[in-house]
Amino acid sequence: MSNESPVINSTILLIYTGGTIGMVKDPETGALRSFDFDELLLRIPEIKLLDHEIDTISFEHPIDSSDMKIEDYLQIAALIETYYDQYDGFVILHGSDTMSYTASALSFMLENLKKPIIFTGSQLPIGDLRTDAKENLITSIQLAGLKDRGRSVINEVGLYFEYKLYRANRTTKINAEHFEAFASLNYPALAESGVHLSINHPALFIPNRRKKLRVHKKLDQRIVVIKMFPGLTPEVFDAMISAESLKGIILETYGSGNTTTAEWFITKIKECIKNNIPVVNVTQCSGGSVAMGQYETSVQLKRIGVINGKDITTEAALGKMMHLLSNLEDRERFKQMFETSLRGEMS
Ligand code: ASP
Repeated sequence: MSNESPVINSTILLIYTGGTIGMVKDPETGALRSFDFDELLLRIPEIKLLDHEIDTISFEHPIDSSDMKIEDYLQIAALIETYYDQYDGFVILHGSDTMSYTASALSFMLENLKKPIIFTGSQLPIGDLRTDAKENLITSIQLAGLKDRGRSVINEVGLYFEYKLYRANRTTKINAEHFEAFASLNYPALAESGVHLSINHPALFIPNRRKKLRVHKKLDQRIVVIKMFPGLTPEVFDAMISAESLKGIILETYGSGNTTTAEWFITKIKECIKNNIPVVNVTQCSGGSVAMGQYETSVQLKRIGVINGKDITTEAALGKMMHLLSNLEDRERFKQMFETSLRGEMS
């Protein structure tokens, strides 16, 4: 780790998509709803003290992140593409509930990034006395503005929450109550905020500086995520995979990649693979990795061609599958690419 003092004069674009950070309590219903973004900035006058030039842009209708759709991912990607050359860094304000999903998908959509894209939000609205929004927003802006000899220090999609910056496609929301809402159990934090901003340089993604930013705008959402559970019956499993348009399956397995060895199950998975529907094995544990073949309960999966998701999160597996399905026809190549780390999402 090295301590950095925030560098002055970076240009930052703040993109507000919605989420608790910009919500207020509706006096009639008591429920939280989004409010005007300008008001959000009025509530953090400290932003003016930062030595960065900050511009803001907001979704026309800010949303709770539970309502995020693929079209919204495309809108964020399009904004980044449009303003990529104009700004040194981008901060995306987003609800925490599905932040790891959106940020993971964006990491695959944005190839050859050479600038920071920092997702952040908060557990309490900005107007709340005990809010975590101010620290999250201010430090995210500082991280997005960090430069070393004229170049961005962070060159990837990050997620900043409660004093830690993570590689976004390594994160999962783990707590609905604590300010420390996210974890990255298979990869260290990229930076920590204390008295100083400490940057974990060896953990940062190394960009290929010769290649230009490529924005992938196609995502195939005809995917199902199936969590294994004791008691899963053939009928229920059939129903889960019966959509005619189904293009891919993410199987959340037990421990290091294990499932039932029941013949009906293996036969059905084999059929899917034969029908050109890739099946990816990810673990339902928050930490650790799939190791197909370690137990008898995963030997068969390996043999029939199930893809090894290694230590990828379900959120990142989903984004990676959406991205690869729409870019690769050849299923052998799909397997190869899925098992390769594209944006540092797996070890
Ligand atoms: N429901 C909110 C959202 O994800 C929660 C949050 O922002 O933390 O938009």
